[in-house]
Amino acid sequence: MPTIEDVIKVVKRNDPNADENELRRVYAFAQEAHSGQSRKSGEPYVIHSLTTAVRLAEMRLPTSMVIAGLLHDVPEDTDKTIDEIRTEFGDDVASMVEGITKLGRLKYRGIERYIENLRKMFLAMAQDIRVVIIKFADRLHNLETLDAMPPKKAYRIALESLQIFAPIANRLGMGEMKGRIEDASFKYVYPKEYAWTEKLSQSTREGKREYLDRVMDRTREILKSSGVEGAEVHGRSKHLYSLYRKLLKYDRDITRIYDLMAVRIIVPSLSDCYATLGIIHGTWTPLKGRIKDYIAQPKPNGYSSLHTTVFCDEGEIVEFQIRTQELHNVAEYGIAAHWQYDEAKGRTAIGVKNAAQADWMKQLGEMNKEIADTNQYMSTLEEMKIDIFKDRIFVFTPKGDVIDLPEDSTPVDFAYAIHTEVGNKCAAAKVNDKIEQLSATLKSGDVVEIMVDRSRKGPNPDWLKFVKTRYARSKIRQQAQVSLKSWLKGFMPGGEQDV
Ligand code: MN
Repeated sequence: MPTIEDVIKVVKRNDPNADENELRRVYAFAQEAHSGQSRKSGEPYVIHSLTTAVRLAEMRLPTSMVIAGLLHDVPEDTDKTIDEIRTEFGDDVASMVEGITKLGRLKYRGIERYIENLRKMFLAMAQDIRVVIIKFADRLHNLETLDAMPPKKAYRIALESLQIFAPIANRLGMGEMKGRIEDASFKYVYPKEYAWTEKLSQSTREGKREYLDRVMDRTREILKSSGVEGAEVHGRSKHLYSLYRKLLKYDRDITRIYDLMAVRIIVPSLSDCYATLGIIHGTWTPLKGRIKDYIAQPKPNGYSSLHTTVFCDEGEIVEFQIRTQELHNVAEYGIAAHWQYDEAKGRTAIGVKNAAQADWMKQLGEMNKEIADTNQYMSTLEEMKIDIFKDRIFVFTPKGDVIDLPEDSTPVDFAYAIHTEVGNKCAAAKVNDKIEQLSATLKSGDVVEIMVDRSRKGPNPDWLKFVKTRYARSKIRQQAQVSLKSWLKGFMPGGEQDV
């Protein structure tokens, strides 16, 4: 079980100037907030906060994100509020924690609804991707402790992770996170297939281990004798879920899967990558059609490497992956690499944040399409492109449903978006727990609660002066006519004639 000292150790490894007393102060706050709480597993709750923080530190993310990781469940689960966090630890940390708290409010209501909510949620959160990265670290620890959950709930959480979180991690280029989320979920979603894949992978690997060690030694030698200095050669095992998916494509025949164990070569420069490829091909014959230059043509998520598969020693087939340390970083951490501590500059590369943000917006558009493919319901929403969301805001119900509205919408628009009756009978509104005018302007991320007055006859025609949605407008007009009608009816004998 991690302690705050473990967190500090990892943080200091990346950033020797990090303020360890500040981390201790944050921890004391989190520990006090969560005191007396325990996880389903019986561990003190704060272990979850610490594990999340360690993960973020291991990803070499800035201390502010590690701090937000420590605090991420405080407003949701304890008496301490977001305002206290703001006062104690500043705006930046507080806004991240607030973002995570909102993500946490999402509740599962059938997969279509869930995907829809999550998609909007991610769009709303596009203002700050750091929140999503912290959420991944949080989710990963939850997945790793699913054993303590009732089976049904464990299945549900694992399924969500497999269907939603992993594709998003993939889209963001976070290869390592995607692999870990998938493998942790796989076990609960497809237990039999998991056991089968694990056994198959293990026995195949065991049989190949010594052989691969020999190949790696030989690779080091030939690179050295060919003048490529500073190359690191490792074995890389494929993640289980991705192996399983591949097995399904290849009739469950593991002998047809060449990258179960690959050799990964990390070299100092891009030109070393191509030199290494040439040296490998000079030693072993490449398989046709298996040379991939993802450096010249990166995958849509930014992945860049050279891949080749060769007829290696003793007639075995082996895949090689060649990349620089920098490309390796991008392959493992994807978009999160933009926030990583930059050793050369001695600080976090904040300058790239905006560029990363722009990329992210672009990727969301494509992600929309990708998620749509996996779900029939979503295909009807295929036309939803990123620009449609440009002038929209995303507002939450107290239960965490996301309502999207045009910019400058008001609580009345929100009320009608929930239900016509809620609109017709709305009497007052609370925005982020504060009473606001019904004509107030809402903004993305607001949590809005509508108080209804059951005895209310209908909407106030004055609302027409400020509502923004066509739907609210038409309903208010319609109701106004209905009331006029019934008012007139009082003057008419029989009362049945139309007016
Ligand atoms: Mn959590």
